[in-house]
Amino acid sequence: KSRALIEKQQNIDSSAVAYPEDIPIAFEEGKGATVRDVDGNTFIDMFAGIGVLNVGHANPYVLEAVHEQTDKFVHTVDFPTEARLDLIEKLDEIAPGALQGNNKVVFGGPTGSDAVEASIKLGKYNTGGDGLIAFRGAYHGATSGAMSVTSNKKFKEAYTPLLPDVVHSPYPYPLGQDKAPQEAVDHALEELQATLEDPYGGLANPAGIIVEPIQGEGGVITPPEGFLKGVRDLATDNDVPLIFDEIQSGLGRSGQWWASEWYDVTPDIMTSAKALGGVGFPLSATMYDESLDTWGSGDHAGTYRGHVVGMRAGTRAIEYIQEHDLLAHARELGEYIRTRLKEAGDGNPHLAEVRGKGLFIGAEFVDDDGNPADDMADAIQDYCFEHGVLVWKAGRHGNILRLLPPLVLTQDLAETALDVIVDAIETTSA
Ligand code: PMP
Repeated sequence: KSRALIEKQQNIDSSAVAYPEDIPIAFEEGKGATVRDVDGNTFIDMFAGIGVLNVGHANPYVLEAVHEQTDKFVHTVDFPTEARLDLIEKLDEIAPGALQGNNKVVFGGPTGSDAVEASIKLGKYNTGGDGLIAFRGAYHGATSGAMSVTSNKKFKEAYTPLLPDVVHSPYPYPLGQDKAPQEAVDHALEELQATLEDPYGGLANPAGIIVEPIQGEGGVITPPEGFLKGVRDLATDNDVPLIFDEIQSGLGRSGQWWASEWYDVTPDIMTSAKALGGVGFPLSATMYDESLDTWGSGDHAGTYRGHVVGMRAGTRAIEYIQEHDLLAHARELGEYIRTRLKEAGDGNPHLAEVRGKGLFIGAEFVDDDGNPADDMADAIQDYCFEHGVLVWKAGRHGNILRLLPPLVLTQDLAETALDVIVDAIETTSA
């Protein structure tokens, strides 16, 4: 049945759809951290719709509020609703560092890209700046502004010209750059400083520095200590708003509400999406310091700036994470998973690095010469699929196995999934 649906999708759907080539299943039902396909096979879901389902598939506590809301009404543009005000208050409660108590939110449409666009517009509006600084390896989305700050050409070269005056500065990626961690940080900060002091490419007055505190699509690149603090200092010294893109890394994924908290650094502007809609409702938000709240009414417009059902679901999901202490759970289970992966890498020169924070996990595979081995990551993904575990990949070369399970994943399920993943690694890459 799955095959028939996939074939039909290939025939009638847009060729732009990333039809499930890597994970060829058609979903019938999801519960917690498992999904069942239309053929009755059950899988452990270790990618959660690319880090969306933090509180699990069909979380009943969240769905209860969703049903209550859909029975009343579903859409209102910007009119006040309890759903909207509750989520604004919740986001302030969990905002990082100095944003807490000073946090403004502008809700966006369904995609993370929307929140990125709003963050760019807010930076421009406040600074009158003419360009942006982003980082190599970054992924920020598929709309024009978001593509402009995305680094990988593959996503954007057919769509130029995009925003002019975007500079991509190095992101510290010690393994990929063949550098020691401190050396990679020093290099990244020197380059950023040089760009700020002597902007090139027409970038005279940056409107923002946008950075993922942990790069997701780039390969779960977890920057060494000192990088984000250094970026924060340079942004402050040069009066440029600092934007953290927490679309993938936020809302508990890393074992903190926001990945920036691991580094004790607070941005001026921050994006959120993916898990924000609770159980997969499309919703995005740009959070920012109230000192930047200079927009006049209607200066950033949109019909779906905050979907009522998504907002209800989002507040409930945050409550659920709080009540079940899922941040601590994500930290502990993440350690367990990384330890198992590292053990699998002992004596295996092809598993070059296991990294990440909380349940935001990457394992990088290389060939005998140390070059990216996307074929190994592919083979592992296939093996896992055949043995009932859904995993994802990342990185420019697709050679990083990426795990983003729901935060509700239990220890038992994690052990079962890791038995399979470790077998996959041993079978295909050792
Ligand atoms: N920023 C980051 C860090 C992301 O990981 C993504 C999606 N993978 C986006 C932005 C874009 O979000 P969306 O696909 O919902 O537009």
